[in-house]
Amino acid sequence: MNGEARDRICRIESFAVLPRWLFVRIETDQGAVGWGEATLEGHGEAVQGAIDAARDRLIGHDPDRIEDAWQMLHRLGFYRGGPVLLSAISGIDQALWDIKARKLGVPVYQLLGGAVRDRIPVYAWIGGDRPHDVAAAAAARKAQGFTAVKMNATEEIGWLDSPAGIEGLVERVGLVRDAGIDVGVDFHGRVHKPMARRMLQAIEPLGPLFAEEVLLSEHPGAIAQLAQHTSIPLAMGERLYSRWDFRPFFESNAIDIAQPDLAHAGGISECRRIAAMAETYDVAFAPHCPIGPLGLAACLHVAAATLNFVIQEMSLGIHYNGPSQDLASLMKNPAMFDVSNGTVALPQGAGLGVEIDEDAVREMARTPHRWRNPAWRGPDGELREW
Ligand SMILES: [Mg+2]
Repeated sequence: MNGEARDRICRIESFAVLPRWLFVRIETDQGAVGWGEATLEGHGEAVQGAIDAARDRLIGHDPDRIEDAWQMLHRLGFYRGGPVLLSAISGIDQALWDIKARKLGVPVYQLLGGAVRDRIPVYAWIGGDRPHDVAAAAAARKAQGFTAVKMNATEEIGWLDSPAGIEGLVERVGLVRDAGIDVGVDFHGRVHKPMARRMLQAIEPLGPLFAEEVLLSEHPGAIAQLAQHTSIPLAMGERLYSRWDFRPFFESNAIDIAQPDLAHAGGISECRRIAAMAETYDVAFAPHCPIGPLGLAACLHVAAATLNFVIQEMSLGIHYNGPSQDLASLMKNPAMFDVSNGTVALPQGAGLGVEIDEDAVREMARTPHRWRNPAWRGPDGELREW
């Protein structure tokens, strides 16, 4: 170590902001500031608790030592893994990459080896459960510049539901394909094994781009079995939080597309590693991101520098955002996410490239959201997966 005074982390804050996001702000004693996103929809209070505890490890730490901070938070706590702890690490990790790249005056992707592509393919959401009108939504997305969308396969569904319900699924997927747009179909972990194979078979002739979470990620063996019965690429990963969680899906050839969420799966550092692991199994990488601008920016930087990346989810106009707020409402440079010909530009500017409207964030976080997903029940009062 030379004689220069080293920079130290002196402040870590988190902000619960609408519609259901959690931002992290880290400041150093030399005045550097970075932002990240630790959104874990429906569990923001728990993640804020984990970030609070992380202060005991990180205050006084060298902000340039991102990997050391990651490993310290992951391993030193003895108990590790899972959505809450890894989402907290994700937001902190993104903020530290933001700080480092801003100090060096480069976009984060330049520190990951530089760009391997000139534009980044993206897709948007069109509902499919509620809201139900996918044909109009698909046409609107096409008019916005998207060439691919994602829709839910079904509303709440029983462990063994009437095969008649599958006709509606085929009709809805067909309407979207008729709009001249590619469509990923998200089973959302709400479909159980007795229904999944039949549903995959029903939509297979329509050529969906991929099928997502065909079963809950608790069932790698059953997903590997489904993969033997369909030509549709199987995608999975929003509820897997580390390279160790992904490993059984790679080793059993269960999935074709890995979808870690950069706000849930250890941030830029860990998702970069998950992408590299995926590459060794010839699996594509398509980060999950129905959340906010910082999470999306983190995805775009990894996408820019990752060869097996294929397409990025983005939440522009997603129904969760509501009428008063959208993806870019809390940033000063919304053009960063402009969509053209199904793609967005490589992020410009230093760090993550998002210029957060800090005053608006602080004001909004004075009344923290308490977002919860809907509670669904079947006709006999039994709980159903959302
Ligand atoms: Mg999903």
